[in-house]
Amino acid sequence: NSVLGIVGGGQLGRMSAMAAARLGFRAHILTNEPDGPAAQVAHGITLGAYDDPDALRRFASAVDVVTFEFENVSADGLELLSGLRTVRPSGRILRVSQDRLAEKRFLDDAGVPVAPWHAVESRQDLDDAAQALGLPFILKTTRLGYDGKGQRRVHTAGDLAGAFDALAPHPLVAEKMIDFACEVSVMVARGIDGTTVTFDVTENRHRNGILDLSLAPARIPPDVAAQARDVAVRVAMALDLVGLLGVEMFIDRDGGILVNEIAPRPHNSGHWTMDACPVDQFAMHVRAITGLPLPPAIRHSDAVMKNLVGPDDMAQWPSIVATPGLLPHHYGKAEARPGRKMGHVNVLFPHGGLPGEFGVEAALGPLARQ
Ligand code: ATP
Ligand code: MG
Ligand code: MG
Repeated sequence: NSVLGIVGGGQLGRMSAMAAARLGFRAHILTNEPDGPAAQVAHGITLGAYDDPDALRRFASAVDVVTFEFENVSADGLELLSGLRTVRPSGRILRVSQDRLAEKRFLDDAGVPVAPWHAVESRQDLDDAAQALGLPFILKTTRLGYDGKGQRRVHTAGDLAGAFDALAPHPLVAEKMIDFACEVSVMVARGIDGTTVTFDVTENRHRNGILDLSLAPARIPPDVAAQARDVAVRVAMALDLVGLLGVEMFIDRDGGILVNEIAPRPHNSGHWTMDACPVDQFAMHVRAITGLPLPPAIRHSDAVMKNLVGPDDMAQWPSIVATPGLLPHHYGKAEARPGRKMGHVNVLFPHGGLPGEFGVEAALGPLARQ
């Protein structure tokens, strides 16, 4: 009955803690939010900052194995923890995933295709990037971006200076704008014995830079889906991953695959697995980091996941819980600020499979777009 230590107090920690409890583990959270999403369901919490050595030591003494629930926890803090307890995934993987330049260099070295990119530290670098990549391109901060924050699209030479100035602190990375046919992701888990399992490829739609809908399985040709799973496994092996990893990809119009970014933790686009799979991504994550066997990542139903973002979506909560067929998940956040992820809803299609666009909207009931 060992204790799983989770660094970070958000919804991914919450759902990991719930999965841990189901498998007989206790979850202990390091967070500075005493009543945050994860703390509410945890067995215990250590209150403190992710880089506070004293809090980190107290946290380590309360747990048996350590994981983290988002990329932007302190890498130095995790390194300190690595000296005291087993940390899975490793601190090295965290460092790669929290810096877009390190991530792209790693993927290049692993032979995993990514969009053409150019490192940008100075205005001159940015002009060079425009030369090398052509217009339009996307300029991103290397660190701390999420939900499309920390990005600017550069359409014309006139946008260069403004984008550069808007995205301090530098360095930045410029990426060729990919005219993708669709965006997908693959959740891959790898155990301590090197076993890997992948969930079905997920098709993702964003709205205002935030994930809006995930559809499983992605409506892409079977050979492309198989390649996407292979790519995810290749990344997991190259990282020597123990745990779960979300790999975001673009599928171009010829079926070519480019990796966008990786996240060594349960991923928002994998939340459909909570209702559509006997062993969901959180259970798979907990199994991988605690050394339990990894069962096949079977899916029993087609599924759609919709994120509940901000006060507008949460205003629908009473009708969401009153609508048969909607499977709601609440993150326990007190305040529904605009753009904040408050929960999600899954809808299963166990018989006929995913319907067309109108069918998906209709199945979302009170969440259907007007
Ligand atoms: P997340 O919330 O997934 O962590 P993020 O802020 O880290 O997002 P990205 O995933 O890099 O940002 O980009 C957000 C979205 O912007 C992508 O899902 C995609 O829709 C679009 N995008 C990013 N890079 C490119 C690109 N090179 N070409 C085309 N579209 C892109
Ligand atoms: Mg990201
Ligand atoms: Mg992303």
